[in-house]
Amino acid sequence: MNTQKKLACGSGGSIVVSRCQVCDSPNLESLLFLGYLPPVNTMPLIGTPLDEQPAYPAKLLRCKECTLAQLGLIVDPAILFPPTYPYTSGTTKILRDNFAELSREVDALYPLRPGQLVVDIGSNDGTLLSNFQREGVRVFGIEPTNAAKLAIERGIPSMIAFFNKESAGKAAADQGRAQIITCTNVFAHIEDIHSIVEAMLALLDSDGIFISESHYFLPFLETLQYDTVYHEHLRYYTLTSLKYLLEMHGMEVIHAKCIPTHGGSIRVYASRKGRHSVQPSIARILDEENRGITPDVLRNFKHAVVQSKLDLLALLSQIKAKGGRIYGIGAPSRASTLINYVGLDDGIIDCVLEIKGSYKIGKYIPGTIIPVREESCLFTDQPEYALLLSWHIADELMPKLQSRGYKGRFIVPLSTVRVVGGSSGQVCNPSQH
Ligand SMILES: [Zn+2]
Repeated sequence: MNTQKKLACGSGGSIVVSRCQVCDSPNLESLLFLGYLPPVNTMPLIGTPLDEQPAYPAKLLRCKECTLAQLGLIVDPAILFPPTYPYTSGTTKILRDNFAELSREVDALYPLRPGQLVVDIGSNDGTLLSNFQREGVRVFGIEPTNAAKLAIERGIPSMIAFFNKESAGKAAADQGRAQIITCTNVFAHIEDIHSIVEAMLALLDSDGIFISESHYFLPFLETLQYDTVYHEHLRYYTLTSLKYLLEMHGMEVIHAKCIPTHGGSIRVYASRKGRHSVQPSIARILDEENRGITPDVLRNFKHAVVQSKLDLLALLSQIKAKGGRIYGIGAPSRASTLINYVGLDDGIIDCVLEIKGSYKIGKYIPGTIIPVREESCLFTDQPEYALLLSWHIADELMPKLQSRGYKGRFIVPLSTVRVVGGSSGQVCNPSQH
Protein backbone atom coordinates (compact mmCIF):
# COMPACT_ATOMS: atom_id res chain seq x y z
CA MET A 1 0.00 0.00 0.00
CA ASN A 2 0.99 3.60 -0.54
CA THR A 3 0.85 4.71 3.07
CA GLN A 4 4.52 5.76 3.17
CA LYS A 5 4.31 7.55 -0.16
CA LYS A 6 5.05 11.25 -0.43
CA LEU A 7 1.79 13.09 -1.15
CA ALA A 8 1.18 16.05 -3.44
CA CYS A 9 -1.38 17.32 -0.91
CA GLY A 10 0.38 19.93 1.22
CA SER A 11 3.51 19.93 -0.98
CA GLY A 12 2.71 23.21 -2.72
CA GLY A 13 3.58 21.53 -6.02
CA SER A 14 2.95 18.29 -7.88
CA ILE A 15 4.12 14.68 -7.90
CA VAL A 16 4.77 12.53 -10.97
CA VAL A 17 2.95 9.18 -10.84
CA SER A 18 5.60 6.51 -11.46
CA ARG A 19 3.72 3.73 -9.67
CA CYS A 20 0.01 2.88 -9.83
CA GLN A 21 -2.09 5.03 -7.46
CA VAL A 22 -3.87 1.87 -6.24
CA CYS A 23 -1.68 -1.25 -6.55
CA ASP A 24 1.78 0.41 -6.59
CA SER A 25 2.85 -1.42 -9.76
CA PRO A 26 5.44 0.43 -11.89
CA ASN A 27 3.90 -1.18 -14.97
CA LEU A 28 2.01 1.82 -16.37
CA GLU A 29 1.22 2.36 -20.05
CA SER A 30 0.42 5.74 -21.62
CA LEU A 31 -3.04 6.03 -23.23
CA LEU A 32 -3.13 9.70 -24.12
CA PHE A 33 -1.30 13.00 -23.67
CA LEU A 34 -3.40 16.17 -23.88
CA GLY A 35 -0.54 18.63 -23.42
CA TYR A 36 0.00 21.00 -20.51
CA LEU A 37 -3.30 22.19 -19.06
CA PRO A 38 -3.94 25.16 -16.76
CA PRO A 39 -5.80 24.51 -13.49
CA VAL A 40 -9.51 24.69 -14.36
CA ASN A 41 -10.38 27.00 -11.48
CA THR A 42 -7.79 29.64 -12.33
CA MET A 43 -9.86 32.21 -14.20
CA PRO A 44 -8.49 35.78 -14.30
CA LEU A 45 -10.97 38.66 -14.26
CA ILE A 46 -11.60 40.17 -17.68
CA GLY A 47 -9.43 43.24 -18.18
CA THR A 48 -6.83 42.42 -15.52
CA PRO A 49 -3.20 42.38 -16.72
CA LEU A 50 -2.26 38.82 -17.58
CA ASP A 51 0.14 37.32 -15.07
CA GLU A 52 2.15 34.10 -15.26
CA GLN A 53 0.03 30.93 -15.02
CA PRO A 54 1.03 27.38 -14.17
CA ALA A 55 0.24 24.48 -16.50
CA TYR A 56 0.52 20.77 -15.74
CA PRO A 57 1.05 17.79 -18.04
CA ALA A 58 -2.21 15.90 -18.63
CA LYS A 59 -1.15 12.36 -19.32
CA LEU A 60 -3.57 9.48 -18.97
CA LEU A 61 -1.97 6.21 -17.85
CA ARG A 62 -3.32 2.71 -17.40
CA CYS A 63 -1.96 0.16 -14.94
CA LYS A 64 -1.25 -3.21 -16.52
CA GLU A 65 -1.59 -4.90 -13.13
CA CYS A 66 -4.94 -3.68 -11.69
CA THR A 67 -6.19 -2.00 -14.96
CA LEU A 68 -6.80 1.39 -13.27
CA ALA A 69 -6.73 4.39 -15.62
CA GLN A 70 -5.19 7.38 -13.89
CA LEU A 71 -3.52 10.76 -14.31
CA GLY A 72 0.25 10.81 -14.57
CA LEU A 73 0.63 13.84 -12.30
CA ILE A 74 -0.95 14.70 -8.96
CA VAL A 75 -1.20 18.41 -8.16
CA ASP A 76 -1.57 19.82 -4.63
CA PRO A 77 -5.30 20.56 -4.08
CA ALA A 78 -4.27 23.95 -2.63
CA ILE A 79 -3.26 24.92 -6.20
CA LEU A 80 -6.34 23.39 -7.84
CA PHE A 81 -8.79 24.93 -5.38
CA PRO A 82 -7.49 28.43 -4.65
CA PRO A 83 -9.11 30.41 -1.80
CA THR A 84 -11.07 32.36 -4.43
CA TYR A 85 -12.78 29.14 -5.55
CA PRO A 86 -16.38 29.56 -4.43
CA TYR A 87 -18.69 26.89 -3.19
CA THR A 88 -21.23 25.78 -5.79
CA SER A 89 -23.83 23.21 -4.90
CA GLY A 90 -23.78 21.37 -8.23
CA THR A 91 -27.20 19.95 -7.44
CA THR A 92 -28.61 19.95 -10.96
CA LYS A 93 -31.87 18.20 -11.78
CA ILE A 94 -30.08 15.18 -13.22
CA LEU A 95 -28.11 14.80 -9.95
CA ARG A 96 -31.21 15.27 -7.79
CA ASP A 97 -33.09 12.65 -9.83
CA ASN A 98 -30.12 10.30 -9.54
CA PHE A 99 -29.97 10.62 -5.73
CA ALA A 100 -33.71 9.95 -5.46
CA GLU A 101 -33.27 6.86 -7.63
CA LEU A 102 -30.34 5.74 -5.46
CA SER A 103 -32.47 5.84 -2.31
CA ARG A 104 -35.24 3.87 -4.06
CA GLU A 105 -32.70 1.25 -5.13
CA VAL A 106 -31.38 0.95 -1.57
CA ASP A 107 -34.97 0.54 -0.29
CA ALA A 108 -35.55 -2.28 -2.75
CA LEU A 109 -32.25 -4.13 -2.30
CA TYR A 110 -31.04 -3.42 1.23
CA PRO A 111 -33.95 -1.89 3.19
CA LEU A 112 -32.97 0.10 6.28
CA ARG A 113 -34.30 -0.81 9.71
CA PRO A 114 -35.42 1.77 12.30
CA GLY A 115 -32.48 3.38 14.09
CA GLN A 116 -29.97 2.59 11.35
CA LEU A 117 -27.61 5.29 10.11
CA VAL A 118 -26.80 6.57 6.59
CA VAL A 119 -23.57 8.61 6.22
CA ASP A 120 -22.65 10.59 3.10
CA ILE A 121 -18.99 11.44 2.49
CA GLY A 122 -18.71 14.81 0.76
CA SER A 123 -22.35 15.47 1.62
CA ASN A 124 -22.45 19.00 0.17
CA ASP A 125 -25.77 20.70 0.97
CA GLY A 126 -27.41 17.43 2.06
CA THR A 127 -29.35 16.75 -1.15
CA LEU A 128 -28.44 13.05 -1.28
CA LEU A 129 -29.17 12.46 2.42
CA SER A 130 -32.53 14.24 2.25
CA ASN A 131 -33.77 11.26 0.21
CA PHE A 132 -33.05 8.93 3.13
CA GLN A 133 -34.64 11.18 5.75
CA ARG A 134 -37.69 9.37 7.00
CA GLU A 135 -39.07 8.14 10.27
CA GLY A 136 -36.65 5.94 12.18
CA VAL A 137 -33.68 6.31 9.80
CA ARG A 138 -30.82 8.57 10.90
CA VAL A 139 -28.64 10.51 8.46
CA PHE A 140 -25.29 12.25 8.90
CA GLY A 141 -23.12 14.23 6.47
CA ILE A 142 -19.36 14.86 6.46
CA GLU A 143 -18.41 17.80 4.26
CA PRO A 144 -15.34 20.07 4.23
CA THR A 145 -16.97 23.22 2.83
CA ASN A 146 -19.53 25.63 4.20
CA ALA A 147 -22.16 23.81 2.15
CA ALA A 148 -22.54 21.72 5.33
CA LYS A 149 -24.13 24.78 6.97
CA LEU A 150 -26.89 24.74 4.33
CA ALA A 151 -27.46 21.05 5.12
CA ILE A 152 -27.70 21.78 8.86
CA GLU A 153 -30.18 24.60 8.16
CA ARG A 154 -32.42 22.15 6.31
CA GLY A 155 -32.30 19.70 9.21
CA ILE A 156 -29.57 17.32 8.08
CA PRO A 157 -26.97 16.77 10.84
CA SER A 158 -23.51 17.40 9.34
CA MET A 159 -19.91 17.77 10.38
CA ILE A 160 -17.69 20.36 8.66
CA ALA A 161 -14.52 18.33 8.13
CA PHE A 162 -12.41 16.58 5.52
CA PHE A 163 -13.11 12.87 5.51
CA ASN A 164 -10.20 11.04 7.13
CA LYS A 165 -9.46 8.70 10.06
CA GLU A 166 -10.03 11.45 12.63
CA SER A 167 -13.39 12.67 11.34
CA ALA A 168 -14.57 9.08 10.68
CA GLY A 169 -13.61 8.09 14.25
CA LYS A 170 -15.39 11.10 15.70
CA ALA A 171 -18.51 10.38 13.62
CA ALA A 172 -18.49 6.73 14.76
CA ALA A 173 -18.12 7.77 18.42
CA ASP A 174 -20.93 10.36 18.21
CA GLN A 175 -23.37 8.64 15.85
CA GLY A 176 -22.49 4.94 16.02
CA ARG A 177 -21.53 2.87 12.98
CA ALA A 178 -23.30 3.33 9.66
CA GLN A 179 -25.37 0.74 7.81
CA ILE A 180 -24.95 2.66 4.55
CA ILE A 181 -22.05 4.94 3.58
CA THR A 182 -22.35 6.80 0.29
CA CYS A 183 -19.55 8.54 -1.59
CA THR A 184 -20.51 10.14 -4.91
CA ASN A 185 -18.01 11.82 -7.22
CA VAL A 186 -15.27 12.13 -4.63
CA PHE A 187 -13.82 8.61 -4.77
CA ALA A 188 -11.86 9.43 -7.95
CA HIS A 189 -10.68 12.81 -6.69
CA ILE A 190 -8.96 12.16 -3.34
CA GLU A 191 -5.23 11.44 -3.51
CA ASP A 192 -4.64 9.00 -0.64
CA ILE A 193 -7.38 6.54 -1.57
CA HIS A 194 -6.25 3.70 0.73
CA SER A 195 -6.53 5.85 3.86
CA ILE A 196 -10.03 6.92 2.72
CA VAL A 197 -11.15 3.29 2.36
CA GLU A 198 -9.68 2.44 5.80
CA ALA A 199 -11.41 5.45 7.39
CA MET A 200 -14.67 4.45 5.71
CA LEU A 201 -14.36 0.89 7.07
CA ALA A 202 -13.81 2.25 10.59
CA LEU A 203 -17.23 3.93 10.31
CA LEU A 204 -19.07 1.08 8.53
CA ASP A 205 -21.12 -1.43 10.54
CA SER A 206 -19.96 -5.07 10.31
CA ASP A 207 -22.60 -5.92 7.70
CA GLY A 208 -22.89 -2.35 6.39
CA ILE A 209 -22.79 -1.39 2.72
CA PHE A 210 -20.55 1.14 1.01
CA ILE A 211 -21.94 2.76 -2.16
CA SER A 212 -19.69 4.75 -4.48
CA GLU A 213 -20.57 6.59 -7.69
CA SER A 214 -17.78 7.53 -10.08
CA HIS A 215 -17.39 8.63 -13.67
CA TYR A 216 -17.15 5.39 -15.63
CA PHE A 217 -14.18 4.52 -17.84
CA LEU A 218 -16.12 2.35 -20.32
CA PRO A 219 -18.35 5.17 -21.72
CA PHE A 220 -15.31 7.44 -21.34
CA LEU A 221 -13.60 5.31 -24.01
CA GLU A 222 -16.69 4.67 -26.12
CA THR A 223 -17.75 8.33 -26.40
CA LEU A 224 -14.27 9.94 -26.39
CA GLN A 225 -14.70 11.78 -23.11
CA TYR A 226 -11.09 12.93 -23.08
CA ASP A 227 -12.43 16.32 -21.96
CA THR A 228 -13.08 14.86 -18.48
CA VAL A 229 -9.30 14.58 -18.04
CA TYR A 230 -8.21 17.40 -15.74
CA HIS A 231 -6.12 17.52 -12.62
CA GLU A 232 -8.94 17.27 -10.05
CA HIS A 233 -9.89 13.93 -11.57
CA LEU A 234 -7.12 11.54 -10.55
CA ARG A 235 -8.61 8.14 -11.40
CA TYR A 236 -11.01 6.76 -14.08
CA TYR A 237 -12.61 3.63 -12.65
CA THR A 238 -14.04 0.49 -14.11
CA LEU A 239 -15.82 -2.09 -11.97
CA THR A 240 -12.72 -4.26 -12.53
CA SER A 241 -10.34 -1.67 -11.06
CA LEU A 242 -12.68 -0.68 -8.21
CA LYS A 243 -13.08 -4.36 -7.32
CA TYR A 244 -9.29 -4.68 -7.16
CA LEU A 245 -9.02 -1.63 -4.88
CA LEU A 246 -11.79 -2.74 -2.50
CA GLU A 247 -10.52 -6.32 -2.32
CA MET A 248 -7.17 -4.97 -1.10
CA HIS A 249 -9.14 -3.93 2.01
CA GLY A 250 -11.03 -7.21 2.58
CA MET A 251 -14.14 -5.98 0.80
CA GLU A 252 -16.29 -7.51 -1.91
CA VAL A 253 -18.33 -5.82 -4.65
CA ILE A 254 -21.92 -7.06 -4.37
CA HIS A 255 -23.92 -5.02 -6.91
CA ALA A 256 -23.24 -2.45 -9.62
CA LYS A 257 -25.29 -0.32 -11.98
CA CYS A 258 -24.49 2.03 -14.85
CA ILE A 259 -26.10 5.47 -14.31
CA PRO A 260 -26.38 8.50 -16.63
CA THR A 261 -24.72 11.24 -14.54
CA HIS A 262 -21.70 13.11 -15.96
CA GLY A 263 -21.98 11.41 -19.36
CA GLY A 264 -21.87 7.88 -17.89
CA SER A 265 -21.09 6.85 -14.30
CA ILE A 266 -21.03 3.61 -12.33
CA ARG A 267 -22.65 2.98 -8.96
CA VAL A 268 -20.95 0.18 -7.02
CA TYR A 269 -22.17 -1.48 -3.81
CA ALA A 270 -19.57 -3.22 -1.60
CA SER A 271 -19.40 -4.78 1.85
CA ARG A 272 -16.96 -6.76 3.95
CA LYS A 273 -16.36 -10.09 2.25
CA GLY A 274 -19.03 -12.76 2.68
CA ARG A 275 -21.68 -10.55 4.38
CA HIS A 276 -24.05 -10.21 1.42
CA SER A 277 -24.78 -12.27 -1.67
CA VAL A 278 -23.15 -11.12 -4.93
CA GLN A 279 -25.76 -9.98 -7.46
CA PRO A 280 -25.66 -11.13 -11.11
CA SER A 281 -24.97 -7.48 -12.12
CA ILE A 282 -21.33 -7.93 -11.08
CA ALA A 283 -20.55 -10.77 -13.49
CA ARG A 284 -22.51 -9.07 -16.28
CA ILE A 285 -20.67 -5.74 -16.02
CA LEU A 286 -17.24 -7.37 -15.58
CA ASP A 287 -17.96 -9.31 -18.76
CA GLU A 288 -18.99 -6.12 -20.61
CA GLU A 289 -15.71 -4.51 -19.54
CA ASN A 290 -13.66 -7.50 -20.68
CA ARG A 291 -15.31 -7.36 -24.09
CA GLY A 292 -15.36 -3.55 -24.33
CA ILE A 293 -11.84 -2.67 -23.15
CA THR A 294 -9.42 -4.56 -25.37
CA PRO A 295 -5.85 -3.64 -26.40
CA ASP A 296 -7.28 -2.59 -29.80
CA VAL A 297 -9.86 -0.29 -28.22
CA LEU A 298 -7.19 1.33 -26.03
CA ARG A 299 -4.85 1.81 -29.00
CA ASN A 300 -7.61 3.27 -31.21
CA PHE A 301 -8.76 5.65 -28.49
CA LYS A 302 -5.80 7.98 -28.99
CA HIS A 303 -6.28 8.07 -32.77
CA ALA A 304 -10.00 8.79 -32.35
CA VAL A 305 -9.32 11.66 -29.94
CA VAL A 306 -6.80 13.23 -32.32
CA GLN A 307 -9.19 12.80 -35.27
CA SER A 308 -12.03 14.46 -33.32
CA LYS A 309 -9.78 17.48 -32.71
CA LEU A 310 -8.91 17.72 -36.42
CA ASP A 311 -12.58 17.35 -37.44
CA LEU A 312 -13.67 20.07 -35.03
CA LEU A 313 -10.93 22.44 -36.22
CA ALA A 314 -11.86 21.76 -39.87
CA LEU A 315 -15.50 22.62 -39.19
CA LEU A 316 -14.66 25.77 -37.22
CA SER A 317 -12.24 26.83 -39.96
CA GLN A 318 -15.03 26.63 -42.58
CA ILE A 319 -17.39 28.64 -40.37
CA LYS A 320 -14.80 31.34 -39.67
CA ALA A 321 -13.94 31.58 -43.39
CA LYS A 322 -17.57 32.61 -43.98
CA GLY A 323 -17.48 35.10 -41.12
CA GLY A 324 -19.70 33.09 -38.76
CA ARG A 325 -19.81 33.87 -35.06
CA ILE A 326 -19.37 30.97 -32.63
CA TYR A 327 -20.40 31.21 -28.97
CA GLY A 328 -19.50 28.42 -26.55
CA ILE A 329 -22.32 27.20 -24.30
CA GLY A 330 -21.36 26.27 -20.72
CA ALA A 331 -18.03 26.47 -18.91
CA PRO A 332 -17.81 23.30 -16.80
CA SER A 333 -14.32 21.95 -15.99
CA ARG A 334 -14.47 19.74 -19.08
CA ALA A 335 -14.84 22.85 -21.30
CA SER A 336 -11.42 24.05 -20.19
CA THR A 337 -9.80 20.76 -21.26
CA LEU A 338 -11.54 20.73 -24.66
CA ILE A 339 -10.71 24.39 -25.41
CA ASN A 340 -7.07 24.03 -24.39
CA TYR A 341 -6.47 20.67 -26.06
CA VAL A 342 -8.12 21.67 -29.34
CA GLY A 343 -6.40 25.08 -29.16
CA LEU A 344 -9.44 27.34 -29.41
CA ASP A 345 -8.83 31.03 -28.77
CA ASP A 346 -10.80 34.27 -28.74
CA GLY A 347 -10.37 34.58 -32.51
CA ILE A 348 -12.33 31.35 -33.01
CA ILE A 349 -14.79 31.40 -30.11
CA ASP A 350 -16.21 34.87 -29.43
CA CYS A 351 -17.19 34.03 -25.87
CA VAL A 352 -18.49 31.25 -23.64
CA LEU A 353 -21.88 31.66 -21.99
CA GLU A 354 -22.90 30.65 -18.47
CA ILE A 355 -26.29 30.84 -16.79
CA LYS A 356 -27.07 33.99 -14.80
CA GLY A 357 -25.47 33.96 -11.36
CA SER A 358 -22.47 31.81 -12.32
CA TYR A 359 -19.28 32.99 -10.62
CA LYS A 360 -17.42 32.36 -13.91
CA ILE A 361 -19.15 35.29 -15.67
CA GLY A 362 -16.75 38.22 -16.15
CA LYS A 363 -13.68 35.96 -16.20
CA TYR A 364 -11.52 34.32 -18.85
CA ILE A 365 -11.62 30.62 -19.73
CA PRO A 366 -8.41 29.12 -18.20
CA GLY A 367 -5.38 29.38 -20.47
CA THR A 368 -7.14 31.78 -22.89
CA ILE A 369 -8.64 35.27 -23.10
CA ILE A 370 -12.02 33.91 -24.21
CA PRO A 371 -14.50 35.86 -22.03
CA VAL A 372 -17.30 34.19 -20.10
CA ARG A 373 -20.56 36.13 -20.49
CA GLU A 374 -24.17 35.70 -19.41
CA GLU A 375 -26.34 33.23 -21.32
CA SER A 376 -28.90 35.88 -22.32
CA CYS A 377 -26.35 37.11 -24.95
CA LEU A 378 -27.24 34.03 -27.00
CA PHE A 379 -30.78 35.33 -27.57
CA THR A 380 -29.89 39.00 -28.07
CA ASP A 381 -26.82 38.46 -30.30
CA GLN A 382 -28.12 35.37 -32.19
CA PRO A 383 -24.66 34.06 -33.22
CA GLU A 384 -24.78 31.76 -36.24
CA TYR A 385 -23.32 28.86 -34.20
CA ALA A 386 -23.47 27.66 -30.59
CA LEU A 387 -20.72 25.20 -29.60
CA LEU A 388 -22.06 22.88 -26.89
CA LEU A 389 -19.25 22.38 -24.38
CA SER A 390 -21.58 20.32 -22.14
CA TRP A 391 -22.09 18.08 -25.16
CA HIS A 392 -22.96 15.04 -23.03
CA ILE A 393 -26.35 16.70 -22.34
CA ALA A 394 -26.74 18.13 -25.88
CA ASP A 395 -30.14 16.45 -26.41
CA GLU A 396 -31.52 18.24 -23.34
CA LEU A 397 -29.86 21.57 -24.05
CA MET A 398 -30.73 22.10 -27.72
CA PRO A 399 -34.55 22.11 -27.44
CA LYS A 400 -34.32 24.22 -24.27
CA LEU A 401 -32.24 26.92 -25.99
CA GLN A 402 -34.43 26.82 -29.10
CA SER A 403 -37.61 27.18 -27.07
CA ARG A 404 -36.10 30.27 -25.45
CA GLY A 405 -35.54 31.84 -28.87
CA TYR A 406 -32.14 30.80 -30.23
CA LYS A 407 -32.39 30.48 -34.02
CA GLY A 408 -28.83 29.51 -34.99
CA ARG A 409 -27.20 26.12 -35.36
CA PHE A 410 -25.54 23.92 -32.79
CA ILE A 411 -22.11 22.33 -32.97
CA VAL A 412 -21.82 19.13 -30.93
CA PRO A 413 -18.03 18.58 -30.62
CA LEU A 414 -18.02 14.97 -29.40
CA SER A 415 -18.17 12.01 -29.65
CA THR A 416 -18.59 12.69 -33.40
CA VAL A 417 -18.40 16.31 -34.55
CA ARG A 418 -21.80 17.34 -35.93
CA VAL A 419 -23.90 20.40 -36.74
CA VAL A 420 -27.56 20.38 -35.71
CA GLY A 421 -30.49 22.70 -36.29
CA GLY A 422 -30.92 26.00 -38.09
CA SER A 423 -33.63 26.88 -40.58
CA SER A 424 -33.60 23.50 -42.32
CA GLY A 425 -33.10 21.60 -39.07
CA GLN A 426 -30.79 19.12 -40.72
CA VAL A 427 -27.83 17.33 -39.20
CA CYS A 428 -24.60 17.29 -41.11
CA ASN A 429 -20.97 16.42 -40.57
CA PRO A 430 -18.00 18.68 -41.38
CA SER A 431 -17.36 17.22 -44.84
CA GLN A 432 -20.93 18.07 -45.90
CA HIS A 433 -20.92 21.48 -44.32
ZN1 LIG B 1 -2.47 -0.79 -10.50
